[in-house]
Amino acid sequence: MKKTVLATAVALSLPTGAFAQDWDNIEITNIKVTDGLYMLMGEGGNLGVSIGEDGVFLIDDQYAPLTEKILAAIHELSTDEIHFVFNTHYHDDHTGGNENLGKKGIDIVAHDNVYKRLSDSGSPKEALPIISFNDKLTFHMNGIHMKTKHYHSAHTDGDSVVYFEGKNVIHMGDTMFNEAYPYVDVPGGGSWQGILDLAKDTLATIDDETQIIPGHGPLTNKAGLQIYYDVLLDIDSLLRPVAKQGLSLEDAKKLSPLAKYDGDYGNGFMDPDTFISIVYMDIYNHLDN
Ligand SMILES: [Zn+2]
Repeated sequence: MKKTVLATAVALSLPTGAFAQDWDNIEITNIKVTDGLYMLMGEGGNLGVSIGEDGVFLIDDQYAPLTEKILAAIHELSTDEIHFVFNTHYHDDHTGGNENLGKKGIDIVAHDNVYKRLSDSGSPKEALPIISFNDKLTFHMNGIHMKTKHYHSAHTDGDSVVYFEGKNVIHMGDTMFNEAYPYVDVPGGGSWQGILDLAKDTLATIDDETQIIPGHGPLTNKAGLQIYYDVLLDIDSLLRPVAKQGLSLEDAKKLSPLAKYDGDYGNGFMDPDTFISIVYMDIYNHLDN
């Protein structure tokens, strides 16, 4: 079938995250992943924190109003200097604290496309990465090697996953929404196929003992990622044949193809209607036959 872009306008009202939050009531909790490595949860993306002899390495920084709480939570783990904050991608629930941290002289590091998107959106200089990279970058700190790897089009076009070699832990950023429908930011360069490919690729490179910090949702492991991947594959197998029949989004929705997952997976960042709208259209627009 010739590739045809559906004319149906998809009016997406994306969740507005925590804009209406009462920040005072948000607590930052920390979960020990292994010695020297923690996952912090508050509002927004899960943070990763490596501590040790060389200081603190931080992954993501949630929202600006939470910076002081996040710093206090890190301070309870280590009073050493924070050397780097690494952004897994550009979304503001992962980079909202950049400006505050940048003003404190903490170096922000991220993929080139994170720099570009933050810069293009008018972010102040202090919120921008001072170092950006195009493929892979390794931090040698705290007796381990933190290997970051970029995937070009998954959740966005600027995603990185971070593998803590020596700890057997991986931070997947928003390429994994554990126990929830993932958000594919198509206007931000993401793609449904890219999310699938990244999960498959990651499964092939980790082992049964690997612990996984997802972008959202609880700490998990390879078995959890396998379940997530299997669900995504099943969703693909439910939507793709409908797209191949050429049904409009509205007609596809009437079939309720994802009904069996909506209850368990549709209560996170993505509600069922928004999720199917994004994913169905992305599959439809990339059918190759
Ligand atoms: Zn995100």
